[in-house]
Amino acid sequence: MNLFTSDIDWAPEAVIADTIELFNKYNVKCTFFCTHKSSVIDSIKSDNNFELGIHPNFLPLMNQQQGSIREAIEKVLNIVPNAKGVRSHSLVQSTPLYQTFKDYGLEYEANTNLPYKNEIKPFKLWNGLVKVMHNFEDDIHFLYNFPFDDTKINTYTNMLNVFCIHPIHIYLNTDSEQTYNKAKVHYQNPTELIKFRNTKVVGTRDLLITLLNNHNKYFDNSYTVYEYLKIENFII
Ligand SMILES: [Zn+2]
Repeated sequence: MNLFTSDIDWAPEAVIADTIELFNKYNVKCTFFCTHKSSVIDSIKSDNNFELGIHPNFLPLMNQQQGSIREAIEKVLNIVPNAKGVRSHSLVQSTPLYQTFKDYGLEYEANTNLPYKNEIKPFKLWNGLVKVMHNFEDDIHFLYNFPFDDTKINTYTNMLNVFCIHPIHIYLNTDSEQTYNKAKVHYQNPTELIKFRNTKVVGTRDLLITLLNNHNKYFDNSYTVYEYLKIENFII
C-alpha cells in the first residue's frame, strides 16, 4: 500500500492548488502537512480525499532566534485545529517534542525518513504517539543524485510505502538540486516558477503521475495516513 504525504512548505496558492488537482484527477488520497493559512487548503478541509496535519517550523529556535516550541506548534494548530498528525519542517524531532505533540492531542508523528527501506511498519512510542516513517522523499532523492524514473522501492506490494513529496517540486518537476536552486529565488511567484519547470528529464511531477496511475491499477483503495493507522489498528 502506498500512502502519499506532502509538506506544504509555504508554497503559494497556485502551487498548492496544482498538487491538489493532480490528486483529484487520479482520485488518490493525500495527507498534507500545513505550514500557513491558505484558502486553497481551507477549500479541502472537509474533503475526504485529503487529511490535514501540521508542519511546525522549529528551525528558528535551533538558530537561536525568537519563539518557543509551543508557539511554533500553536501557530499551525490554530490553522488546522483538528490535525491528528505532525511532521516537523526539516524533520526536527526529539524525545521531549514527542511528549509535547502528545500533550497537544496529536496522535501520530511522521518525522523519520528511511530512504528506500522495505520495512517501515508504524509503531507506538511509550506515550501512545504513533511513529510513521517514510521511505521516499523527493528532495532527498535528488540529493542522492538518483534519477526520477525509479523510486528505488517496490511500489506494488501490500507492504507499506510512504511518499513525502512537496508541491514546489511537483510544480517544478524537480529532477535535481540545480533545477530547484535556479527557481528558488521565485518561490512565491508561480508565473516565474513555471518558466523553470523541468521538461528535459523525468522529474518529481512525472514520477508522481506514474505512481498515481499505477496506484489505481494495483490497489482498490487509497488512504490518508490517519485512515491507514485506524484500519491497521495502530490507532484505536
Ligand atoms: Zn518542510
